[in-house]
Amino acid sequence: MNINKNCEYKIIGVYDDYIMLTDETNNKFDITMDIIEKHFAYSYCCTCHSLQGSSKSGIMTIHEWNHFFVDKNWFYTAITRARNLDDVYFMMSNKQSEDTEYKLLRKYFIDKKEGYIQQDYKNGTFTQPGQEFKSNYINIDWFFTNIKKHCGSCGCDFSYSLNENISCDLTAQRLDNNLPHNLDNIIPMCVNCNRSISDHHCKNNNAPAKVLLYNYDDEPDLDDDDDENYYC
Ligand SMILES: [Zn+2]
Repeated sequence: MNINKNCEYKIIGVYDDYIMLTDETNNKFDITMDIIEKHFAYSYCCTCHSLQGSSKSGIMTIHEWNHFFVDKNWFYTAITRARNLDDVYFMMSNKQSEDTEYKLLRKYFIDKKEGYIQQDYKNGTFTQPGQEFKSNYINIDWFFTNIKKHCGSCGCDFSYSLNENISCDLTAQRLDNNLPHNLDNIIPMCVNCNRSISDHHCKNNNAPAKVLLYNYDDEPDLDDDDDENYYC
């Protein structure tokens, strides 16, 4: 059986050693519990992204609608999934915990920017003192804007965790390593892609790595003949 991501399956029978499901076109499947546990999540809720392009009848409650990550496009998409706007309800969130979340993330980004400043001084890409105060240097807004976007190389979504150790996989990858982390010299990139470029750079005596740039409008372009799609 092929399990498709973001598809809904209905449980139509539970037996001793397997469960019977139907997919969205009513095909039936018998499936063992270990596969259910490994690959399925109960669809008591869904993300706004997974509902894009479809609509729902019945009561719909929107959560996290006033989260600092939500912009008006997300909000519009969320409410227009309902066939009848009278069926839309909003869950009041805990504003205090969101404020704390925002502050923690902000502090994390300030530290990350500080790391880039030190890197730029250490590597000599800052040629004079105070370059970090110039308006075109990476700023906190850049982090908050780009964490909602995709990795510029593999196209994955960025994520963050605010558990004991705050972590986030968004990094600023420079297009030209001889220049500082200026806004016109960086693209958002996930930690894994950033590391693989650095590894390549070190292992090959500072040879530049070729990386496919993700096209935000389409699927990644896998044609590697077009040099314009790469940066070094
Ligand atoms: Zn990536």
